[in-house]
Amino acid sequence: MRRSREQWQGHEQRKSELRNITLLLEKKFGIPRRKFGEDPLDILMETLLSQNTNDRNRDKAFQGLKKRFPNWEDVLKAKSRRIVSAIRPGGLAEQKAGRIHKILYWIKRREGRLSLSFIRKMNSKEIRETVGILKGIGPKTLHCLLLFGLGRDAFPVDTHIHRIGQRLGFIPEWMSADKAHEWLAPLIPKRKSLSLHLNLIRFGREVCKVKNPQCSACFLKEECALFQRVLSGTSLSPEKLRRN
Ligand code: SF4
Repeated sequence: MRRSREQWQGHEQRKSELRNITLLLEKKFGIPRRKFGEDPLDILMETLLSQNTNDRNRDKAFQGLKKRFPNWEDVLKAKSRRIVSAIRPGGLAEQKAGRIHKILYWIKRREGRLSLSFIRKMNSKEIRETVGILKGIGPKTLHCLLLFGLGRDAFPVDTHIHRIGQRLGFIPEWMSADKAHEWLAPLIPKRKSLSLHLNLIRFGREVCKVKNPQCSACFLKEECALFQRVLSGTSLSPEKLRRN
């Protein structure tokens, strides 16, 4: 991503702000550990099912799929309507079922079996150019695969991270979540992607909530661009901004 001179001038400042935010979150919530033994194909499909829905419905859809089809070969052989019915709680079931089937078909044709283990040997750029071009695999899905499926230093930006990042100020207000992946890559502290991602998700659930952010009790309010603007009278509060 090309950055303007002003953007580059703010680059080092943002980097140091993000380092500080990472440390404060770890101080409060601890350092999350990666779960080992996750199957990259499971992670890819689970993330695909998370598109345009919440975590609860994503989990219902993924568990429904795994319960009905014990392995991915069964999904590949299944009639579309059976996949649709298994993943219906996650919404957009027809579209997602079609994408799941096409991805499985692509892997089977390429590898002769339903496993993503071949991507373990690739660097992240090669994975982006190989898997990232498949329909339904956008930047968030790809970054979840890299982080949770392969343990790489990649930072997924979902709707929660996007909201919190814009409030805190490390994602520009005009920037979409998709674009923010490339923007944030050089700013995230090295080997802290997992910690920052999971702690921000927890922070969003407990403090910087969508509807009712707990600004007065927030341990990041000194770091928060929006809170500082509210204090200086140049912005409405997060709650009022949401209503407008
Ligand atoms: S001060 Fe409010 S808006 Fe800013 S990060 Fe904290 S809870 Fe979110």
